[in-house]
Amino acid sequence: NQRKSVTVIGLGPMGQAMTTAFLDRGYEVTLWNRTPSRADALVARGATLAPSVAEALAAGQMVILSLTDYAAMYDVLGPAETALTGRVLVNLSSDTPERARAAARWAADRGAVHLTGGITVPPSGVGQPESLTFYSGPREAFEEHRNALEVVTGRTDYRGEDPGLAALFYQLGMVMFWTSMLSYWQAIVLAQANGLAAADILQHATDTANSLPGFFAFYAERIDAGHHAGDVDRLAMGMASVDHVLHTNADSGVDTTLPAAVADLFRRGMDAGHAADSFSSLLEVMRKAEA
Ligand code: NDP
Repeated sequence: NQRKSVTVIGLGPMGQAMTTAFLDRGYEVTLWNRTPSRADALVARGATLAPSVAEALAAGQMVILSLTDYAAMYDVLGPAETALTGRVLVNLSSDTPERARAAARWAADRGAVHLTGGITVPPSGVGQPESLTFYSGPREAFEEHRNALEVVTGRTDYRGEDPGLAALFYQLGMVMFWTSMLSYWQAIVLAQANGLAAADILQHATDTANSLPGFFAFYAERIDAGHHAGDVDRLAMGMASVDHVLHTNADSGVDTTLPAAVADLFRRGMDAGHAADSFSSLLEVMRKAEA
């Protein structure tokens, strides 16, 4: 009656939370981290710190990588290449789809399987039933290790064989997360410049954010149908509005990088002849890198 086992390499906040989740579920957990002291509290809870990467890899078939980026994976695993044969690397580090594809080839050349993961929650969400991770790569490896993957996050979404897909889905979430959070920071500096605190605008910011999914659904259908008619909104109206936003920020003496970038995109849509179309016509402008 062998205990379920997993190796976790990378003990930042995420790797530590994952290790805790596995220990809570009774897994035998072997650890390796560049800075060994980060394993101390986990070892006290029953995990085993391997003296070398090769020994961490030898401890079991499934190896979770939770590193800053994919470059760190080559730094860590490169010197222990020969120990990779037969391992399943579940890479929950963030990086680009192209780097995920390259890593899958690199692993395959060394007799290992690479499963790309994109985890959508912070450390507090690790081990929670409602949390979600995207996966892509060999389906067989995903299915075989599914129970263990569901310890990391209760929900898994397997996107397909292409190792880049999970990274892509992760990046789709991140482009929205970073730009949206910066829009919130912009609102806060604007509020502060006008004598208000973050707490004073929290409800308004929340209501505004909560209104967005309705817009997502409304526009998704029209966009997929190639429908950018100006029947509900016109880009020219939007141009005037984003100019008001830009000037309100400028008048308040705060940084205007973000509202100026928005106004620039609207301006390019106007220049491309979309004044009477919906502002979803900006997709035509944004589809290709600026010449
Ligand atoms: P950290 O960057 O804090 O920790 C990463 C780990 O990578 C550490 O163990 C660190 O080792 C190791 N590392 C970095 N560079 C090297 C290197 N060159 N050689 C050896 N080891 C290296 O990340 P997190 O734990 O916060 O996150 C891990 C991954 O998960 C990241 O890719 C992140 O983008 C992603 N993620 C993070 C979320 C979060 O909220 N934190 C949410 C969702 C995804 P050492 O301890 O020695 O420094």
